Formats: sequence, C-alpha cells, structure tokens
Amino acid sequence: MRRPKVFPYSTKRICRSEFTTCLSCGTRLRRYATLSERPIITLSGPIRLTHCGYRCPDPACPSATRSYRSAAADALALPGFTFGLDIVVLVGHLRLAQHHTVDQTHQLLQARLEPFDQTISRREISYLFEAYTTLVRATHEVADDTIWQEQVRARGGLIISIDGIQPDKGNETVYLVRDVLTGRVLAAENVRASDTETIKRLLAPVVALDLPVLGAVSDAQESLCQAIAALWPEVPHQLCQFHYLREASRPIYELDRGLRKQIRKQIQQPVRATRDQLERQAAARAQTEPEEAEQLAVLSDYALSVQTALNLDGQQPFKYASLAVDDALSDVKASLEQLEKRGVHEAGAVS
Ligand SMILES: [Zn+2]
Repeated sequence: MRRPKVFPYSTKRICRSEFTTCLSCGTRLRRYATLSERPIITLSGPIRLTHCGYRCPDPACPSATRSYRSAAADALALPGFTFGLDIVVLVGHLRLAQHHTVDQTHQLLQARLEPFDQTISRREISYLFEAYTTLVRATHEVADDTIWQEQVRARGGLIISIDGIQPDKGNETVYLVRDVLTGRVLAAENVRASDTETIKRLLAPVVALDLPVLGAVSDAQESLCQAIAALWPEVPHQLCQFHYLREASRPIYELDRGLRKQIRKQIQQPVRATRDQLERQAAARAQTEPEEAEQLAVLSDYALSVQTALNLDGQQPFKYASLAVDDALSDVKASLEQLEKRGVHEAGAVS
C-alpha cells in the first residue's frame, strides 16, 4: 500500500530575535540583515529557514553594533548543518543509549525521513554522531576559551537560551544552553528529569563562567523559568513564542492524530466498498437506464470526496488533521443535503 506523504513540501519559517527592544537602551530593535537562509531537514519534515538579525537603530547606543540572533533559529540546527539538531540528538541517543551500530542507526533514520522524501547517507550518520559528542563536550571548551570570554565581556555579556530536545518518547531530554548573541553552545547535557534543581545543575557551569548575563530566552516550561529566575533574578526573560505554542499544542496534536487514524480505520473500508458497488451498478445500467446510471456516478463522486477527506493531514502547532477531515466531510454532507432537497422538490413538482 502506498503511504500518504505527511509533508510533501518544505515548511517556511522566518525566525526573528525574541527580544524586541535593546537590552542597553530600550529602543525598539530593527532588522538589519538576513543571517542565514537555508534548508534544514528535521524529524518533522524539511524547513526553509530565514534567520533575521536585529540591531539597536540608535547610533548613540553603546550597544549599537550588537547583533540579536533568534534563539529559535539556532535551536533548529548547528551552524553549517543541513540536518537538524533533533536528528543529531537522536543519532547520539541511538548510538549511546540504545547501543545501535552505525548501520542500524542509518536504517532507522532512513525510515524516519522516508515519508518526507528525504534520504540520509551512512557517512552522514558518523558525521552527525561526531557533532553530538562535540556538543556534549561544549561545557569544558567554553570554560577554557579565555579569548572568547574576553570578547563576551567586551560585548557586554551573554544572552542565555535553553531548550530541550527529546530523542524519543522516553523521559530522556538533551538540554542545550546557548549564547543568543554568538549562537555558541555553552552547555549540553542528557538528563532524565526536568525539575528546577536539574536545570539549575545544568546551568551551573554557565554561572561558573562568571560572565555578565543580559537576558534569557526559553519556552514557558515552569522549571526553566524558575531556574533562570533563581540564578539571574535581575535579567529580563523572554519566552519563545513558537516553542511554547508548539509544546502547548503537542498533546492535543498527538491525540488528534490518533483520532484521525481511528476515523479512517472505521470509514475507509465501507466507503471504498460502497464506491465500488456504485461504479459497478452505474456501468451495468449505462445502456438501459442512462439517467439512473448518471445519478449513481454522482453518488460515486461523493464517495470519492469522502475518501479524499479521510487522507487530509495536519501541521503543528495549530492545524489539526481531524478538524480538516471534519470540515471536508461537512462540505460533502451539506452538498448531499442540498442534492436531496432539490431531488424532493423536483419529485414534488412532477407529482
Ligand atoms: Zn540600544
């Protein structure tokens, strides 16, 4: 059986700085450059990313040259990588936690990307695994990089972002801590709990750097908010809209996918059988009763509409598959009712 494609096209995403005003003088930030424009392949399909850089437009501001990146854009993929961070993290998880070989990991990833018409090479798997191991060493590298620390001080400080990526349905989460101004990964750790104490421990090496912190960006996860508030009580904390909308909608989205599957399972077979029957009857009467055959053909078209509606899909965060199916089926129903009314009216006129 042919599997329906989930995302036959790339999703476009434009990412802007989560901060809208200058952290030094409060002036509204202005877009000054496109930092990157590139395709990224994620486990949810390909994305065409446009990453916009923002700056304080006031030339008198001491931080007028500071570039505000989008934490959400940097969370999608490492610089220079086409495969997303979710794939890097999954490769790391499969190799280290599940003890899969490169070949097994390759096969699993191929299967995950196949519905999107995407492929990944075996060589790429090794490359992504290297990226993962580099990532989890980030904490030590940042602590030893005194030149970079000097640059951070000269720029006024760090803007910290935190986000978690779950490699599978289990309770493991890889948290990445990043500096939004440079995109540099400050810490990355695989943890099994996401409570405030765990997040504080994860952030401890960043605190130990003893660099000024200008602000923080994260989704609305309570433990993240509490940990940031406890460690840096004075800094402005910006919530990342896309991330918290996606997280907020995830449980409903998953339920919805299950519901759509159920609807399809119940209706698909009877509709197909009905349509076959209508087509057979229409063919049999084409010569003897052409009018009736035509009516049967119309009904068969309706059955086809129902079949098509059952294959409609959703997209996170807010396009739900079962709502799309319901809309399409309601259209079919309204049209059928109209047909029926007209039929009764015409029949009435005749008698
Ligand atoms: Zn400013």
